[in-house]
Amino acid sequence: MDMSAHLMVLNERPPVRMVRGEGSHLWDHTGKRYLDFIQGWAVNCLGHSPAALRRAVTAQLDAVVNVGPAFHNEPALALAAALARRAGLDRVFLANSGAEANETAVKLARKWGQKHRGGAYEVITTRDGFHGRTLAMTSATGKAGWDEAFPPRVDGFPKVPFGDVDAVERAIGPRTVGVMVEPIQGEAGAVVPPDGYLAGLRALCDRRGLLLLCDEVQTGMARTGPLFAHQRDRIRPDIMTLGKGLGGGLPIAAVLAREEVACFALGDHGSTFGGGPLMCAGALAVLAALEEPGAADARAVSSARLEFQLRAIAAEVGASVRGRGHLWGLLLPAPTAEAVTRRAFEAGLLLNAPRPGILRLMPALTVTAAEIDAMADLLRAALAS
Ligand code: PMP
Repeated sequence: MDMSAHLMVLNERPPVRMVRGEGSHLWDHTGKRYLDFIQGWAVNCLGHSPAALRRAVTAQLDAVVNVGPAFHNEPALALAAALARRAGLDRVFLANSGAEANETAVKLARKWGQKHRGGAYEVITTRDGFHGRTLAMTSATGKAGWDEAFPPRVDGFPKVPFGDVDAVERAIGPRTVGVMVEPIQGEAGAVVPPDGYLAGLRALCDRRGLLLLCDEVQTGMARTGPLFAHQRDRIRPDIMTLGKGLGGGLPIAAVLAREEVACFALGDHGSTFGGGPLMCAGALAVLAALEEPGAADARAVSSARLEFQLRAIAAEVGASVRGRGHLWGLLLPAPTAEAVTRRAFEAGLLLNAPRPGILRLMPALTVTAAEIDAMADLLRAALAS
């Protein structure tokens, strides 16, 4: 029998069930072990089922699971304060997914536009950018064809090429309220913009009185080096969204904003599950683990090894490499990425192919040198066969 007879089929999945995870490894129902360089699509920043997360969530389960939006809870207050302090931003809304966080960010920008920009509502976004799969985020996303996929599309997201500040400037009109970008485009295959891009956008937004929204759903939580990718450029966005790594595998996301931008009125927005104590307790444990003494140094070492191995492989097969930290794309000389991921899967390595000619690697930030070397051996074999 088709084991997924009752699931809507929206992803191609191999005919196995994943039953257990530990660190960089997953096991399927037959007991086969996989080295995981997908990690839930750049989600499990501490690897599978890390002890710190298990401890924090178990303790919170014993205390209280859900108090709802009508009441404060300690983990949500602590998480909001911790994130705001680290980002140099002031106010936080806690959500459940990246798309929901981005929807919230755009709603907030539109509200700010009503109050301060005469009703301006357009948020300029980038081609090949990715912001989620809700109706509005499908329109904000710059994937080819997505604009027209579920008509009528949500208005207000003019698109420009990624990495080009002048193109943003040319797209600014009387209805523009802000610009939303990923510091590195994740789903497009780890596209790194030219140096100075974010700083250029920041200066442009300041000059024109616009909001800069950074979608750090994929790049945030130390995925590309610093806790938030934009910190490398020494700028501060007006609004930032987080998701994926924030909960280390638990569904939690966040919107952060400057005090003056955080202009929602009572009742403007909300979420039944957003900011629940269980997920917030998990996110606090993730943040603490990422900031343990020595953790950033260990990440720098493993990131350098990952880059070294990928560059070596790329030189052997005529590919090229792009990315930063623990988010990398390998651009193959031919559109064989799907076939390579299938062969890697057979051999026990989990890789992602976001485009026909691109492999994406997004291991746990705690990945070891031995695991990186094992990945390199398996990847070489998959590319060779
Ligand atoms: N923004 C970015 C940059 C993403 O990479 C993703 C997910 N790939 C999203 C938003 C959407 O997040 P979610 O799937 O949690 O809604």
